[in-house]
Amino acid sequence: MLRKKTNSVTQRAGRTNILSDGAASSVDRRAFLRGSGLAIGGLAAISATGGAVTQASAATAATGAVETIKSVCTHCSVGCTVVAEVSNGVWTGQEPGWDSPFNLGAHCAKGAAVREHAHGERRLKYPMKKEGGEWKRISWEQAIEEIGDKMMSVREESGPDSVYLLGSAKHNNEQAYLFRKFAAYWGTNNVDHQARICHSTTVAGVANTWGYGAMTNSYNDMHNSKAMFLIGGNPAEAHPVSLLHMLKAKEQNNAPLIVCDPRFTRTAAHADEYVRFRPGTDVALVWGILWHIFENEWEDKEFIRTRVWGMDQIKAEVANWTPEEVERVTGAPGSQLRRVARTLVNNRPGTVIWCMGGTQHTNGNNNTRAYCVLQLALGNMGTAGGGTNIFRGHDNVQGATDLGVLANTLPGYYGLTPGSWAHWARVWEEDLDWLKSRFSVMEGAGKDGTDRLMMNETGIPVSRWIDGVLEEKDNIDQPDNTRVMMLWGHAPNSQTRQKEMKTAMEKLDMMVVVDPYPTVSAVLQDREDGVYLLPACTQFETRGSATASNRSLQWRDKVVDPIFESLPDHTIISMFAKKLGFHDKLFRNIEMDGEEPVIEDITREFNRGMWTIGYTGQSPERLKMHMANQHTFDRTSLRAVGGPADGDFYGMPWPCWGTPEMNHPGTANLYDMSLPVAEGGLAFRARFGVERDGDNLLAEGVSNPGAEIQDGYPEFTMQMLIDLGWDGDLTDAEKRVIGKSVGMEFDTVGESDDTEKMAEAAKPADGSEEVGETSMSPFPSDYNERVSKINWKTDLSGGIQRVAIKHGCAPFGNAKARAVVWTFPDPVPVHREPLYTNRRDLVADYPTYEDKKFWRLPTMYKSIQEKDFSQEYPMILTSGRLVEYEGGGDESRSNPWLAELQQDMFVEVNPRDANNLGLRDGEQVWVEGPEGGKVKVMAMVTERVEAGVAFMPFHFGGHLEGVDLRDKYPEGADPYVLGEASNTAQTYGYDSVTQMQETKSTLCKIWAA
Ligand code: SF4
Repeated sequence: MLRKKTNSVTQRAGRTNILSDGAASSVDRRAFLRGSGLAIGGLAAISATGGAVTQASAATAATGAVETIKSVCTHCSVGCTVVAEVSNGVWTGQEPGWDSPFNLGAHCAKGAAVREHAHGERRLKYPMKKEGGEWKRISWEQAIEEIGDKMMSVREESGPDSVYLLGSAKHNNEQAYLFRKFAAYWGTNNVDHQARICHSTTVAGVANTWGYGAMTNSYNDMHNSKAMFLIGGNPAEAHPVSLLHMLKAKEQNNAPLIVCDPRFTRTAAHADEYVRFRPGTDVALVWGILWHIFENEWEDKEFIRTRVWGMDQIKAEVANWTPEEVERVTGAPGSQLRRVARTLVNNRPGTVIWCMGGTQHTNGNNNTRAYCVLQLALGNMGTAGGGTNIFRGHDNVQGATDLGVLANTLPGYYGLTPGSWAHWARVWEEDLDWLKSRFSVMEGAGKDGTDRLMMNETGIPVSRWIDGVLEEKDNIDQPDNTRVMMLWGHAPNSQTRQKEMKTAMEKLDMMVVVDPYPTVSAVLQDREDGVYLLPACTQFETRGSATASNRSLQWRDKVVDPIFESLPDHTIISMFAKKLGFHDKLFRNIEMDGEEPVIEDITREFNRGMWTIGYTGQSPERLKMHMANQHTFDRTSLRAVGGPADGDFYGMPWPCWGTPEMNHPGTANLYDMSLPVAEGGLAFRARFGVERDGDNLLAEGVSNPGAEIQDGYPEFTMQMLIDLGWDGDLTDAEKRVIGKSVGMEFDTVGESDDTEKMAEAAKPADGSEEVGETSMSPFPSDYNERVSKINWKTDLSGGIQRVAIKHGCAPFGNAKARAVVWTFPDPVPVHREPLYTNRRDLVADYPTYEDKKFWRLPTMYKSIQEKDFSQEYPMILTSGRLVEYEGGGDESRSNPWLAELQQDMFVEVNPRDANNLGLRDGEQVWVEGPEGGKVKVMAMVTERVEAGVAFMPFHFGGHLEGVDLRDKYPEGADPYVLGEASNTAQTYGYDSVTQMQETKSTLCKIWAA
């Protein structure tokens, strides 16, 4: 811990706050809570298992009948169930869900304290705008009117792309989907969310290796692991309850836990083998382990032969990574990596786990693919206990990614191609030409002088939104700069280059913050006007689904009505749509309950379109049934044993194929060939063609049990069904839906699947029997020809998926994983030195990329790396999480239970560095990055980091370069704890594929303040 609270001195400036009373004395728990306005009676109530907390104001209500309502923790992706106790509409207590297979009655400190979000002492209470430098309360009507008018005038002058719609991993699935649809109807792909800056390199790397960009197994499945290899993650703090599952493998299977991290984390404290390595050298480290595996021929040759393409090219690269070279680059000794390799080989299946330590790099996509290749070489994929368990961050970052709150996809990872737009236009029953008319066209600005259709262009990623504002207009591949920012559920302090962000915020025409809390956006800039704060409510004040890291969907019921004047995201979207003139279209198939769109209708709408990843079978009814019957699911396999969900996997982890009526159970472990597809089995996805360089890319002679094609096969199309003679298995109703998608018209009789009725309708009017040849088919003779190109992703009936599965096959094919991604800048993952590196001796051997332009913006690599900053900035700076806080920390630092636990922003410094720099533990120091941003924080002298490396947590905000910004928050809405954002000192640097920001390896200098 940082300091014992009983002997610490807490200093605060600006507006009075509960901690400032203690500036000259200690701040203990009692004083803290008294200051925060909480009843002392609640002091001992909270515990590791989440005791009930009764607050004074709820005392009378507590005498009424207590209702229990199930929801899901809104912090991390583990998805722990919260059982809320509600009395007369007041949330009086909470318990962790004991029936939940995910948390088994456990909560971490964050989960145990979620009631406080809906209690909301520091919440934004009503819409506000800045006028003459002061916050002023306004009505919702005025806010929507003024913001909408400004959006329209900017649209008029600069086009729809000048309005940036930044969404959130805190939306539930329905809101995320609606947000992306809203952006489409507004006419921009400048829409993105936090997945860009946490796991975009995972999604890209993993999807391009074997098909889907998600965690392949689950937290629970780790019970089956014989070994666990964790790199760049600290779940003991970031995903605390996940450790429950990891430790079970350790205790039950004697599974060794190997933790690779530059920092000796709280997770590393549980490790059997801790590998310390230099930040930013993950590829070198993994190749160093693989070197021993290949050298000793320990790889799984049969698995590679039948299910992997390109391993020979990997071997050629790995051969360069001798133990000596690996040690030179990573610092990890060869003897240790040989031991790690042996452990992984001797304890199969093992799982590989990674988090943001691996993803947030300029070559993050190389890292994630290297981890995948390690598992492919070991033959650990597609099996219980194996897989890549990629721990996502926020509670619904997986769902928001799946539902397309991204600048490069539509919901379900449908791209931005004309075909993808046509698909969603069909689902939305929208006029495609009208949708097209919403987007800008840049005449002659496309390839070879063609027009650039902004509808088909990836937008600006959230990591670069500030460059959309600050970059020269002529350098940006869109009509004009970003002029309006809508920051909807986003902590700006979670992004690098904070000082430039301040400038960008001040340059905007208008900035709109939609959030339960004002966020750092409210105070980072020095604007006099043009800033709006709109109070969104939390997920406890509405209902809907959220997708946990393992792809399971869980349903949250509403715990309490929205407090103060806050509103749910989907209601706010609806209000904007009305103002902007497309409400009728946006909600064409969604009922309204007063001002609020009916959530279940939104779920059903995305069920009708998300065929690519199988978000189609999880109807609201099935999801609610799973939540009500959590106790019937096995805690390891996640499969229901009897009961109403018998055979289903908990939360129907996607893909849950076909329509809800098809009753697919969901897919607990991706690519598992030991199970029939109908029971949750799969092969690797045939996504990259059928042949490469004359090699077969389809699986060799292996398939799922019961498959009628016992070999590799491509993805299913209508033509394939016809060729196989399986098209006769489609029902007439399915055939009609498929026909409609290519423009065929069917009369009302044709809407029914009742063939008897159809036969009746086809009889001559006089009732006589028809004599001679007749056809009952309502389908034209060229039907097959016209529908031949419809495939498992574009068939809105789900029939192609159903028929493929009926014959034991995976709708997306049965192929090899590709170890080499020929479409990426580095087809074989290679090590590249970070942009800001103090290992100048390695730059020539492992240089970064050439500067380039992508995602609409010029992006620097070499032009930064070629300058040597290491003399002035000799230390490596990295960052990470703390158990008490989440993300940018606005919610959790506003929560008195959590804020008490961690009151000071700090930097970890090794004793050697501290002594050399003349720093003492607990002293204030300056940490400055090579771009000049600096933070004033407390020094924590610790051997967690090695000499030459400094670490800062990234959850703090509200201080900027030594200045406390507390008095800039709206009255009563300042978080209890403020501090410097580590990202003020963090620097430029973006992944070569996804524009992920680099926050794990830059440089800094530190000196006493
Ligand atoms: S933060 Fe994560 S681990 Fe903690 S209770 Fe919430 S969901 Fe569970």
